[in-house]
Amino acid sequence: MSAAAAVSSSSSPRRLEGKVALVTGGASGIGEAIVRLFRQHGAKVCIADVQDEAGQQVRDSLGDDAGTDVLFVHCDVTVEEDVSRAVDAAAEKFGTLDIMVNNAGITGDKVTDIRNLDFAEVRKVFDINVHGMLLGMKHAARVMIPGKKGSIVSLASVASVMGGMGPHAYTASKHAVVGLTKSVALELGKHGIRVNCVSPYAVPTALSMPHLPQGEHKGDAVRDFLAFVGGEANLKGVDLLPKDVAQAVLYLASDEARYISALNLVVDGGFTSVNPNLK
Ligand code: NAD
Repeated sequence: MSAAAAVSSSSSPRRLEGKVALVTGGASGIGEAIVRLFRQHGAKVCIADVQDEAGQQVRDSLGDDAGTDVLFVHCDVTVEEDVSRAVDAAAEKFGTLDIMVNNAGITGDKVTDIRNLDFAEVRKVFDINVHGMLLGMKHAARVMIPGKKGSIVSLASVASVMGGMGPHAYTASKHAVVGLTKSVALELGKHGIRVNCVSPYAVPTALSMPHLPQGEHKGDAVRDFLAFVGGEANLKGVDLLPKDVAQAVLYLASDEARYISALNLVVDGGFTSVNPNLK
């Protein structure tokens, strides 16, 4: 694409027209919001998730039960053959792969006392949040390198830049996503492929809501959740929703971000940057 074409496409209301994207964990929460926003912007999307029914429902709700523009593929991101098959299915069905969103992730159990850590649980968190994302990068790169273009966006978290926003293994795994992003961006930049990550503050989804202690989930769920995880949000009167995170992913996925790589885009209303002691 010429520089002029890239600039004119940035003003298009459909910012992913003609692009093909794969979203892991696209059956619910932030991933589902990404799938829906990508479709609004004209992308063909492959949803890759372990939840078959929910994934198929998202596809069907987009009016595409025939799978013309939206594909669902069963994929456990910890299983290399699954990731490889999902990438190949998207590329074969839609002709290419332009965008890989490594979104699937878990928090693991909420034990924060290191003496009680269950290492099977720690390994599970790393398997999905780190190894799963690395596999996504590996197989996206395999398909993207010959075309000398592509955008890989992974979901980290504010837990990638600070402690206290989740269990130890979750925090370590999200710091690792930033490390992977920088390291792989350096290598894939040679091939014209950008690699970035997005770090949201607390968003109400299936992943985050179970972390409310029993009995405290009353009144407005979003505000209860924010109060539980981090006290008051910095940005007053605005709730962070899955669609806000999806907008950040859309930007990094699109050609508008064509010179942005190795970035950790923090979507937190300023939460990680302000002194909490100043009122
Ligand atoms: P969610 O639980 O609503 O959705 C996660 C999706 O990933 C589900 O559809 C689930 O089936 C899928 N998934 C889980 N394990 C998988 C596996 N092994 N293979 C394939 N799919 C798998 O969670 P969410 O809140 O939407 O989280 C999405 C991402 O955003 C995660 O990486 C999470 O760490 C990150 N994040 C979430 C928050 C938050 O507050 N919700 C904040 C910061 C970062």
